[in-house]
Amino acid sequence: MKHFTFQELTKSATAKRKGIDNSPSMQVRANLAALVENVLDPLREAYGKPIVVTSGYRCEKLNRAVGGAASSQHVKGQAADIRSVQDTPEENKKLFDLIVKLGLPFDQLINEYGYDWVHVSYGPRHRRMKLRAVKKNGRTQYLYM
Ligand SMILES: [Zn+2]
Repeated sequence: MKHFTFQELTKSATAKRKGIDNSPSMQVRANLAALVENVLDPLREAYGKPIVVTSGYRCEKLNRAVGGAASSQHVKGQAADIRSVQDTPEENKKLFDLIVKLGLPFDQLINEYGYDWVHVSYGPRHRRMKLRAVKKNGRTQYLYM
């Protein structure tokens, strides 16, 4: 792990506010490290600028608190939500496109609500599945891209 720390991959304002212990187990740390080494670090190198992680590992309690899907790869430390420093849809899209262009071995890559942020996961499968999350009648739908 060159450009990312366990601290930034596990920190959560919600966990802090609600007193939830979001410390990662050895297995979760191994998963986070694999995500960084196979996807996030190579992406960061190619992008050439800092990348903001808005959510990485979420223990089950935290995942429920933020309304995450029960099957979310965040719970295993296999996913991260990232965005650009500028935090514009145009710049966030660059991260999404770069992950595809670089041929990184991701499992799922999600354009969240018009590039509000980008969700990327790694392992155990490398499906390279590209999705777009949209809200329809207040519910999230995932469409293939
Ligand atoms: Zn996510």
